[in-house]
Amino acid sequence: MISVEEAQEQVLARIGRLEPMPVTALEALGCVLAVDVVSDVDVSPFDNSAMDGYAVRAADTQRASEGNPVILRVVDHIAAGAMPRATVGRGEASRIMTGAPVPGGADAIVMVEHTISLDGGGSTGGTVAISKPARDGDHIRLKGEDVRVGETVMSAGEVVTAAGVGLLAAVGMTNVEVFRRPKVAIVSTGDELVDIATKPGPGKIRNSNSWSLAAQVEAAGGIPHILGIALDNEADTRALLSRAPDFDLMVTTGGVSMGDFDVVRDVLEDIGQMDFWKVAMRPGAPQTYGTIGGTPFFGLPGNPTSTMVGFELFVRPSMRRMRGFADLFRPLTQAILGEAVRKKADRRYFMRGRLVRGDDGAYSVTLSGAQSSAMLTAMHHANCLISLPEGESAFSAGTEVTCIRLDMEEGTP
Ligand code: AMP
Ligand code: MG
Repeated sequence: MISVEEAQEQVLARIGRLEPMPVTALEALGCVLAVDVVSDVDVSPFDNSAMDGYAVRAADTQRASEGNPVILRVVDHIAAGAMPRATVGRGEASRIMTGAPVPGGADAIVMVEHTISLDGGGSTGGTVAISKPARDGDHIRLKGEDVRVGETVMSAGEVVTAAGVGLLAAVGMTNVEVFRRPKVAIVSTGDELVDIATKPGPGKIRNSNSWSLAAQVEAAGGIPHILGIALDNEADTRALLSRAPDFDLMVTTGGVSMGDFDVVRDVLEDIGQMDFWKVAMRPGAPQTYGTIGGTPFFGLPGNPTSTMVGFELFVRPSMRRMRGFADLFRPLTQAILGEAVRKKADRRYFMRGRLVRGDDGAYSVTLSGAQSSAMLTAMHHANCLISLPEGESAFSAGTEVTCIRLDMEEGTP
């Protein structure tokens, strides 16, 4: 048996970034940029008004006050999207909407709240009373204020956020190169399994693992391909496992323990190569890793929570490496155990836990339900895995423990 860290190291030593691929701005959300994004335009593209109001010459308004407003002649009405038809001369103003281009001659915008439109309703030909002096540049958004032509808006290696998608759109980048999402093949093994739409007959259970795994693959930014159920015989298992080279990664569940019909390891050694098959951890010691035709292969154990914990510890970091992320592991939080916990000393335990932050800012953690690896309920209620080290067997309430944050993305503090 190897340690969890040794297993993670061995896995990641064989995994590299996938090649970049052009995607639409929206598809880039959450992906790592493979290239610098350099703008060939200014944002804003022109000087424009930040307010609904009047474009004026600031000098004209210097003596304006509530009691003694300055009266200006309205020469134009500029909507967003339209171009000014008049320049603003001395003693003149143009009604202007937010986002409309600032007309020549004007050097400030007076908010509509500081004006009263007089005869003519403030439209062209009428007059407007200005009750507050404007300063040069007031409420004008300058051309190139956010982004200048030639500027690097985002750099290779950065993760595209929702605002990043907006920036790509603003500079007209309809396509951008990101490290592509891995295509992940999912195979469940077991004679007892039936499809989830089928009512299980005697001795049968629904194949839940393919679905929890597909969900984990999606949450990790991959594309799941559920290949189906392999029966517990070599021919059936070989037929599905031999499809691994069509994918970036293959994950199987079940068939890697000591049972008489556990054939996944035999098939792996036959058509691929096995690196290790047992890790000093619970749940799920028989974590099998290897390659088939160059495709990384993860043979996770069949118990539903063992499958999910194995994915979390080994597959998710691998997928993040493939996607070009620098941060591969979830954030850790130190917390005070709210109850006594016992375990076997010979291996690391990952107990399903519920972390709570107290009013004093300190975290405490309790078990999120019954800890059998065959049960999914505690995993569903968990927001962390409580990592209890090998070498120790009893943890009293009040002990400080390390929790793996299932509720937080890698790279967040
Ligand atoms: P195995 O690792 O194949 O010995 O399976 C261990 C336990 O997990 C057995 O009780 C299986 O019935 C159960 N199991 C295996 N595969 C699945 C699956 N795809 N969905 C739900 N339970 C499973
Ligand atoms: Mg089985």
